[in-house]
Amino acid sequence: MKGSLFVVAAPAGFGKDTILSEMFKRNDTAGYAVSATTRAPRDGEVNGVHYRFLTREAFERKIAEKEVLEYTEYCGNYYGTLKKSVDDLLKAGKDAILKIEVEGAMNIKKMFPEARLVFILPPSWEILEKRLRDRGTETEDKIIERTKQARSEVAFAKNYDYLIVNDDLNSAVDDLLTILKAEKLRRDNNDELLDKFNVNKIDERL
Ligand code: 5GP
Repeated sequence: MKGSLFVVAAPAGFGKDTILSEMFKRNDTAGYAVSATTRAPRDGEVNGVHYRFLTREAFERKIAEKEVLEYTEYCGNYYGTLKKSVDDLLKAGKDAILKIEVEGAMNIKKMFPEARLVFILPPSWEILEKRLRDRGTETEDKIIERTKQARSEVAFAKNYDYLIVNDDLNSAVDDLLTILKAEKLRRDNNDELLDKFNVNKIDERL
């Protein structure tokens, strides 16, 4: 079976990373398409696993050589989808999961209309704010700033194909797996099944 391209987006603080890492534990038919970035690695981040960490020069070279499908500048750093990361997964028959911000997702959809965009929503604004507060790591100003940022990102959700509400981790992971499975069952991903029944040779008027 061939793999499909998925973009999973959610504003920071929405639990996207947790949902994805749980999903990968439960499903080996999908892989994470590692992006490139010029930002410095954070503690625990591994080159080639979380990102390909590149210098600005190396990143710009990749853009010039058309090795980057889309890219953006975010907080002073480049972030971009590597063509090779996506190709390697799809060639291996796996679903390629991109974890990119909302505008990058729109660009991917323009380039690959068959890509499926999945947006993860919080149960409510109140719960999102409460989650940010409960983490206790953010100042009040930061919480307000992040809530504002989240609102502008959620505005893009209307352009997505699927919505998941992150109310409960397990059911959010189940929802994501269901979306991946549904895509595998689409008729246009299973033409060989129709060939097996010679469907295209049967006269429909009979
Ligand atoms: P962070 O620095 O927190 O890892 O990522 C910052 C933002 O960049 C996140 O919203 C993340 O989804 C986004 N991002 C990561 N990789 C890419 C990419 O390849 N393309 C785009 N457009 N955004 C990305």
